[in-house]
Amino acid sequence: MDAAIFVSIGISLGFTRGVSEDETGEELKLRGIPASRGVCVGKVLILGRQSVETRRRHVEEEGIPAEIERLEQALVETRHQLHDIQERASQALGAKDAKIFDAHLLVLDDPALLDQVVGMIHGEKVSADYAFNTVSSRFADTLASLDDEYLSERVSDLRDVSQRVLNNLRGVKEEGDLANLSEPRIIISHDLAPSTTAVLDTKKVLGFVTEIGGRTSHTAILARSLRLPAVVGLSRVASRLRSGTKVLVDGYGGILVVNPSEKTLEEYGQLKQRQQRVEDRLREIQSLPSVTLDGKSVTVSANVEEVDDAAEVIDSGAEGVGLFRTEYLFLNRETLPNEDEQYEAYREAARRLRPHPVVIRTLDIGGDKLPLHLHLGQDAPEVNPFLGWRAIRFCLEENDIFRTQLRAILRASVERNIRVMYPMVSGVEELNECNERLQKFRQELIAEGHDCDPNLKIGAMIEVPSAVMVADVLARRADFFSIGTNDLIQYTLAADRMNEKVAHLYDPTHPSILRLIKMTVDAGHRNGIGVAVCGEMASDPVMAPLLLGLGVDELSATPPLVPQLKYMVRRMNMSEARELARSSLGCESSGEVLTRCQELAECLAPELFGRG
Ligand code: PEP
Ligand code: MG
Repeated sequence: MDAAIFVSIGISLGFTRGVSEDETGEELKLRGIPASRGVCVGKVLILGRQSVETRRRHVEEEGIPAEIERLEQALVETRHQLHDIQERASQALGAKDAKIFDAHLLVLDDPALLDQVVGMIHGEKVSADYAFNTVSSRFADTLASLDDEYLSERVSDLRDVSQRVLNNLRGVKEEGDLANLSEPRIIISHDLAPSTTAVLDTKKVLGFVTEIGGRTSHTAILARSLRLPAVVGLSRVASRLRSGTKVLVDGYGGILVVNPSEKTLEEYGQLKQRQQRVEDRLREIQSLPSVTLDGKSVTVSANVEEVDDAAEVIDSGAEGVGLFRTEYLFLNRETLPNEDEQYEAYREAARRLRPHPVVIRTLDIGGDKLPLHLHLGQDAPEVNPFLGWRAIRFCLEENDIFRTQLRAILRASVERNIRVMYPMVSGVEELNECNERLQKFRQELIAEGHDCDPNLKIGAMIEVPSAVMVADVLARRADFFSIGTNDLIQYTLAADRMNEKVAHLYDPTHPSILRLIKMTVDAGHRNGIGVAVCGEMASDPVMAPLLLGLGVDELSATPPLVPQLKYMVRRMNMSEARELARSSLGCESSGEVLTRCQELAECLAPELFGRG
């Protein structure tokens, strides 16, 4: 049976019965937000903060030494686990990234915290669980209320570690060993912290379900890049199911089936078989050109964060890199990367991806990026960081950092396939200033005897509405545009891309976004330059016909989604894409636009959507 029909018959929306629904053994269907396509069946692993209440338990005087002993053992066990995880994270991700666990280990050695826990066990004659939970929650609340970005970020470290200690006190083993799952599991949690996903053995993960988040949440993006089914926004699910329960995740319809019946499994089994056939087909077209049925070549490139992503880019069939986010080079370290280090990284990326182009975006920090642990010239936390000192605004003021990066890019341009791109340009003065500095640094380097690409192409990211409005002016000073829809959407709709409370307003198919993309494309083309899209919107095969119909020349996507995009491109005609864009531009609501996009995409490539 078709997933959509299945959804329309007898789905119960949300929880309608009491707690521990999974224990009855009855089938229960719950609807959330579809975040990543695919279907999986397996046992649940509930992670993280579960709302298991830690009750106040009285302990007699003679039982107190045993409680202290239990606490000490739990702390030792937690320390072992963290060292172990750190070791594995260091092997998987490198020593730099594993450093985040230093902060976790520090929590365990905090004398103020531990003294208060022990004091409470003695003074109030309560269990170690209760005392630890009460004191650590109090610490976390105090930290969270401080007006200090660095300290309030430590709240999640403290909560992570506290949960681990509580699990050890309660003898809950499974949750502590994410890097070593004994069998494949479906991860269900309130939300997925990046520190959790860093150590998760993703080969043993079948799918994800979270209580919060929208299509652009961390979990959704991670699941799509791992090509695993995911449903998000399923309120209170983690606290109402138990680890080990059998569930089915339908990432097409956004449905979680608890205790699926034989009949349901059979229906979804057919869907899964179809999914396998699609995977095979995607592999077949991976190395073929992305050209529409009526012969238009479309560049499908990839977004990367580090040099080592190059292999995955080549594997995906992408034609180069449309966005190299250089922030990663600056993360989790005490000092800034110097010119040589950056030069090596950019040049190596260029070498590995030759002859395809590599678009290097200059540093975009601030906002959601790179907690300013380097405290670069930042005196106080900003009230509105997304509207604040970010990206090109930061670089133009921090000339030494900008100069170092531009010199490194210029030197690496000796490979001849490098392009440079500036983030968050809001007006012509910024672009002029960038161009002048680039020119000055080029002359400096030439005088020092370096070879730089004389035709190094420069691009402006179009991600602030003001840049769209003056796109014609910017286009005369750039060689290409790349539309950053992630930011363009949040700035246009005044909806913070990280805030789940306004996630429903963060809407890629809002008519205003379509018009802004069209205006950018028209301004670019009138001035003879190409226009790419490198925001998340470009990774969605449903959006590909619309974007191409609006005139976009290049789609830069997360590497695992490149084959799906190519597949879509190879199934469409530009004439129908243009017609979709024309009719969508006439729509008054985002719902209408989305419906049109989905109808066309499902008609062109039904198998990508669990049909056909
Ligand atoms: C964007 O804003 O769409 C973009 C690609 O940049 P980032 O997500 O890095 O801000
Ligand atoms: Mg951006």
